[in-house]
Amino acid sequence: MKSLWKDEDAREYVERFKAAGEDVALRVYTSRLIGRDPALVMHGGGNTSVKGTFRNLLGDAVSAIFVKGSGWNLDSIEPPGFPGLDLEYLKRLRNLPALDDTEMVNQLRTHMFDAAGPNPSVETLLHAFLPHKFIDHSHADAILALTNRPDGESVVRELYGDRIGVVPYVMPGFDLAKVCAEVLENNPRVEGLVLLKHGLFSFGESARQSYDRHIALVTTAEQWLERERKRGLTPRFDAPAEAATLCARVAPVLRGLLAEATGEPDQPWRRMVLEWRASDEILDFVNAAEFEKLALTGPLTPDHVIRTKSLPMIVAEPDFDNIAEQLQEAVTAYRRIYNAYFDDCVRRKGVQRIRLDDYPRVVLMPGVGMLCWGATKKDARIAADIYEHTIRVKTLVHASGEYEALPEGDLFDVEYWPLEQAKLGKSRPKPLAGQVAIVTGAAGAIGSAVCECLIEAGAQVVAADINAERLAETCDELAQRHGKDSRRGVVCDVTDEASVAALFDECARLYGGVDVVVPNAGVAHSRPLDELEPEDFKRVMDVNATGYFHVMRQAAKVLRAQGTGGNIIVIGSKNVPAPGAEFAAYSASKAAGHQLARVAALELAKDGVRVNIVAPDAVFGDGGHASGLWAEVGPDRAKAHGIDFAQLEEHYRNRNLLRARVTGRHVGNAVVFFASNRTPTTGASLPVDGGIANAFPR
Ligand SMILES: [Zn+2]
Repeated sequence: MKSLWKDEDAREYVERFKAAGEDVALRVYTSRLIGRDPALVMHGGGNTSVKGTFRNLLGDAVSAIFVKGSGWNLDSIEPPGFPGLDLEYLKRLRNLPALDDTEMVNQLRTHMFDAAGPNPSVETLLHAFLPHKFIDHSHADAILALTNRPDGESVVRELYGDRIGVVPYVMPGFDLAKVCAEVLENNPRVEGLVLLKHGLFSFGESARQSYDRHIALVTTAEQWLERERKRGLTPRFDAPAEAATLCARVAPVLRGLLAEATGEPDQPWRRMVLEWRASDEILDFVNAAEFEKLALTGPLTPDHVIRTKSLPMIVAEPDFDNIAEQLQEAVTAYRRIYNAYFDDCVRRKGVQRIRLDDYPRVVLMPGVGMLCWGATKKDARIAADIYEHTIRVKTLVHASGEYEALPEGDLFDVEYWPLEQAKLGKSRPKPLAGQVAIVTGAAGAIGSAVCECLIEAGAQVVAADINAERLAETCDELAQRHGKDSRRGVVCDVTDEASVAALFDECARLYGGVDVVVPNAGVAHSRPLDELEPEDFKRVMDVNATGYFHVMRQAAKVLRAQGTGGNIIVIGSKNVPAPGAEFAAYSASKAAGHQLARVAALELAKDGVRVNIVAPDAVFGDGGHASGLWAEVGPDRAKAHGIDFAQLEEHYRNRNLLRARVTGRHVGNAVVFFASNRTPTTGASLPVDGGIANAFPR
């Protein structure tokens, strides 16, 4: 591992964060250097601090510690990410015989200089009890590879000698802070502390000294691991197909099995979304003879359990022809073992805790790779990042010895930490949280607005369109407003059955399956019947009728495989109850769409799938999204109504009862209404047209 320190960068930070003072500016700089390397720090797995003085309103100089606050990542931290605290007071806390975590957090918060600052790290007291000016802490892969073995302590002592102090495993909090301070006092000249099965602390009088020592200590570990490497993994499993193909087959079935039944009739499932990974390193691991033995060991460091649970679920011998049965058995066994672990720990420890759900977050399968799950894509990605490192470190340990994790009682203490338990039930999920939606024709005026409304309601969206360029623009806009995890774009031609199947496969690989399907891609053509060319009629039918059929057919397959219900919401048209002259192809094709929806409602009700129709009239466009359909047929439609094209939008507005301008967002709101199961409704059509009397049902 190389030091990334550069004098010119350091100077630039001192200049940029001048207002915070040189020490904090350099603290920001080296914290980012550490945070930038995932082999050191991942998703909140490290923290840093600097000591100095704080001048209060009365002009007193108070000795202070500035320590990483929660909610900030080291790779992008700024001075406000280091809340300042009264150091002298914190040091006196060491005299207490005990301090529980809730009171510790209270003590930290009430001794901050800025009441609005973020919560200081739970390892703040550890930083405060050590005398050094700069302190850097990471959960470096190489250090964990050294300590997570039965002989970890002797390996560490032999390798580092007097350079470091060795701290046995103690859960983070007041007790660990005291133990670390004692270890240091026994040998005050050490450059750092290795915390067995936890990580590394380094310290120094300057930001650079502490950082450089950190890198040097990790490098020593890396070199030892390299020197001691004696064996690799033994290839064993021969996959019958590409991992991507197998993933598309397995993911929706698995996703269905991992959905938690809520007992609520309108929202019967709590679903999770997938992050699938199958790098060579991951496939080598899951396909190896040592896979089962290594996978069924605990995490690298206990704070990972919150993201990954203590064990992954594995299917050691997948038979892809009977995979549904195998997965069912594996999930049942996993849940049974998890509940036994919970019951056993609460009984042994004599504590009361709120039981967390018993579903795995990491599923490992030979041939397929790693399937990680979370309530959101971001959560799933964090679990995957952590487990990728877990695979790397376990492989590394195997090369020179045996892997050993902490006993499950220690893992339980972190998974069921009272501070984590206090967060439960605090947030109210959005109506479509954990759900995945496919929208076709997503780059158009209606499609893009439907995507946006679904994202706002909490869904993960796969935006599909035939026009790659417009799709990319739509996806960029959605990402700007809602973040990059909110959507993925997939180019798809709905007239091509294979292209539609590929869309659903891609959706399965991206998110694990699908819950809400919105067939929306459509074209129009305006001609009197005697002038309507057969190929134009066929083209419109191909997209609007056959296209809807392809999408609904594929949706039915995936929704059934998942077994957790779902919604299909067909974008129909006011033209079905009230057709327009010189609009035969469009009106006929939309009528086919409505009728397909009704038949699907009949067939899929027993699977818990609801199929409804939203029937808008004349959506011209929202903001940047002009309707491609209207650009194409607008002039002809204007002619059919005997008016100028420029008057067309006004014409449609004036013909409805509410004089409403119908927008894509109106259609999106109707889609979200159906997708949220707010009423027990299927086979219905909801007009979004401002009220058209001659389209009233008859
Ligand atoms: Zn830590």
